[in-house]
Amino acid sequence: MFHIYCPYCEEYREEEEFHPKGQAHLSRPEDPDDCSDEAWGDYLFFRDNPRGIHHEMWVHAQGCRKFFNITRHTVTYEILETYKMGEQPTITAETNTARPAATASSADDRAATEVKGAQGVQA
Ligand SMILES: [Zn+2]
Repeated sequence: MFHIYCPYCEEYREEEEFHPKGQAHLSRPEDPDDCSDEAWGDYLFFRDNPRGIHHEMWVHAQGCRKFFNITRHTVTYEILETYKMGEQPTITAETNTARPAATASSADDRAATEVKGAQGVQA
């Protein structure tokens, strides 16, 4: 059991109250009739699957029922930050290059990463 910070409720809540809803920041083509089949197919079916930083949309299903975004590390499962819809992440794969992709191997490493993601998740 761990806790996720809801940016709308402004508090940590149990993970069971939340559901993941897929990749964040997908924009629908402006005019579906005027885009190529490939562009429309990419929008509908293809998602990023990075090893490392990933931005995901989640919903606080058993709370405020609002959608928000999470920046999560796909190797460590660590939630680095949460932010409201319409906002941009402060942590991206580009800003996080100094961080190793492997999991934290010692207590010191974990302590250092917990400070970085202070707003995202609380054990
Ligand atoms: Zn909420």
